[in-house]
Amino acid sequence: MSQNDWQDLEKKLFLQTIKRAPVTLVRGKGARAWDDQGRKYLDFTAGWATNSLGHCPPVVVKALEKQARTLIHTSSQFYTVPQLELAQLLIQYSCLNRVFFCNSGAEANEGSVKLARRYGKLRLNGAYEVITAYNSFHGRTLAMTAATGQSKFQESYTPLPIGFINVEYNNVEAIKGATSEKTCAVLLEPIQAEGGVNIPDNDYLKKVQSWCREKGILLILDEVQTGAGRTGTLFAYEQYGVEPDIMALAKGIGSGVPIGAFLAKEAASVFSLGEHGSTFGGNPLVCAAAHAALKYQIDHKIPAQAKRVGNYFLTKLGSLKQQFDFITDVRGRGLLIALEFNQEIGDKLLLACLNKGLLVNRLKPNALRFMPPLIITEKEVDEAIGILKEALGEIQNPKH
Ligand SMILES: *Cc1c(COP(=O)(O)O)cnc(C)c1O
Repeated sequence: MSQNDWQDLEKKLFLQTIKRAPVTLVRGKGARAWDDQGRKYLDFTAGWATNSLGHCPPVVVKALEKQARTLIHTSSQFYTVPQLELAQLLIQYSCLNRVFFCNSGAEANEGSVKLARRYGKLRLNGAYEVITAYNSFHGRTLAMTAATGQSKFQESYTPLPIGFINVEYNNVEAIKGATSEKTCAVLLEPIQAEGGVNIPDNDYLKKVQSWCREKGILLILDEVQTGAGRTGTLFAYEQYGVEPDIMALAKGIGSGVPIGAFLAKEAASVFSLGEHGSTFGGNPLVCAAAHAALKYQIDHKIPAQAKRVGNYFLTKLGSLKQQFDFITDVRGRGLLIALEFNQEIGDKLLLACLNKGLLVNRLKPNALRFMPPLIITEKEVDEAIGILKEALGEIQNPKH
């Protein structure tokens, strides 16, 4: 089948929810992926910040193969070893005490909010409201659509579930103003990822944490994208000197397998038996893979590597900014990086990069996002920069 045939099939068979790049990927290894025509790409999307260790990392493949031959699924009606081992690792390397496993980021946030509401019922006179930020992204369930402070995700689904108040990001006064006796929690991303790679002031989260403690409400951090080494530390909260009461994880922790989790401090661990659940959550197959991936990250200090290579990448992008005056901003932490323009050239640039063998993400009409696997090297960054430079040059001087 040709690329056009695949595209026709997709148009016919799928609910049309996403604009796909015109390429059908069939194979991947490390930071490289191949399409059905045999073309090779450098993948700086990493499955949306998910393939932390690149495509088909040997440690994950090995864990999956072994677990697939041993025990694939049981439900959480029974104890299983991979789930317990993954829980141990997450608790040992985070500031939190207990974990619940689910399957996605949206579910991890849903569970976090349910836990906060339960806390509100038990400890805060039935408080149920959760304060979130504009330009946030917390997932696609109906409740997380209400939590996500972007009208483009909300308009089609009103009326939205109640109990979410969206306020300005990076503004602690806005949170204070929205807090009432009905508030049970504040839910924030340490860096807003989908919303634009928006990095808050260094003291923002610290101020929010102080406010939450003063009011006795919970601080929930959505580390679905920033967690698992993406921003240069295992969890982004470590860089801001705060400790969340609840933390949501997904994307990168499984290095490609679908897994989510939320973790809570002991004081916030208020679920009773039967109050939450998931059929697939904590499935032995994905837990074995995630355990192998996370252990590899920790043993090989991958977050520090992401920080080093991320800084190198930022410097290189900074010099591109010097050369192309339509680049207005370069920002990022670790390997979560955005490049912004004063023109809506995101789609054009994405296609130009694709044609030259580099996969990138269009963050906004006027911005690209880079979220390569955390194992990329300076050499691969140089290669990507070379391609980007060519693509930017074509946009600056279009061929007629
Ligand atoms: C991707 C993302 C989600 C949603 O995760 P899904 O696995 O797509 O449900 C939630 N929060 C943040 C910060 C994300 O980046």
